Amino acid sequence: AEITGGYCFFKGEIMPLDNANINISTHALNYGTGCFEGIRAYWNAEQGQLYMLKALEHFQRLIKSCRILKIECPYTAEELVEWTVKVLEKNEYQGNVYIRPMAFKASRVIKVTLGGLRDELAIFTVPMGDYVKTEDLALVVSSWQRISDNTIPSRAKVTGAYINAALANDAASADGYDEAIMLSADGQLSEASSSNLFIVRDNTIITTPVTADILEGITRRAVLQVAEDLGIAYEVRAVDRTELYVADEIFLAGTGVQIASVSSVDRRKVGSGELGSITAQLQTVYYKAVRGLDERYADWLTPVYK
Ligand code: PMP
Repeated sequence: AEITGGYCFFKGEIMPLDNANINISTHALNYGTGCFEGIRAYWNAEQGQLYMLKALEHFQRLIKSCRILKIECPYTAEELVEWTVKVLEKNEYQGNVYIRPMAFKASRVIKVTLGGLRDELAIFTVPMGDYVKTEDLALVVSSWQRISDNTIPSRAKVTGAYINAALANDAASADGYDEAIMLSADGQLSEASSSNLFIVRDNTIITTPVTADILEGITRRAVLQVAEDLGIAYEVRAVDRTELYVADEIFLAGTGVQIASVSSVDRRKVGSGELGSITAQLQTVYYKAVRGLDERYADWLTPVYK
């Protein structure tokens, strides 16, 4: 379904989403010169509360993306959290929500550059459950290479960069897979099209390093924190492609997929092919934490309703 109705934040105020339009000559539309975030808010029906997950960290990353793209962000991360709370309140959501902040080059000019252009910032929201399949994923190592820091910086969440993800993901689904894993230019495992990659070997959780051209994922950090709290060993290091074939468990972590178990890679079964016990433990803690059901992770959450 198309995203219509409700309220968003645009041009410094809350306005109806259907009025928040841009012209076809806008720089960001022509050149992909914008950056964005994807944030989830989880509804807890018993508490009548909507919790934004790691909102401040997402806006801090947005501001870093803005610096890389020379976008002037007129708000602090804290102010952006507050504006998002206002948008969510105004929409009176009683269910899970996906939040899309976006900062972009708004000038209406033909000029391939980043400097000297006018910037704009928008936040829209859309009701959402699990927007992707989150169990039993069949992965393929893509022939599309992950963008690198010196091409389109991978640590910035740049709108135009998602052509790379879309090419890999589209090829994967055309071949009957759920997700694509990309390699970096030097042949290391990088990440999936919109989530970070984790494997488990000999009861140790391993994830790829920031030097493997990944987006510095916020769920990735949350997973490592939970691993630490559960007393599960973890490593952040370069991972070879064939480690996927010998791993006991594999999962993806990201705002969209949450913690998604992987049952095959390149048509090879992962471990027993069943949900692994470490993945299951992480999922249990994570899904409680995001709904405000685990006091230890209360600081991950911003309650929306007073
Ligand atoms: N990598 C890419 C390329 C992504 O688009 C995302 C989703 N933002 C992630 C990883 C996961 O990041 P996060 O956990 O912050 O959502």
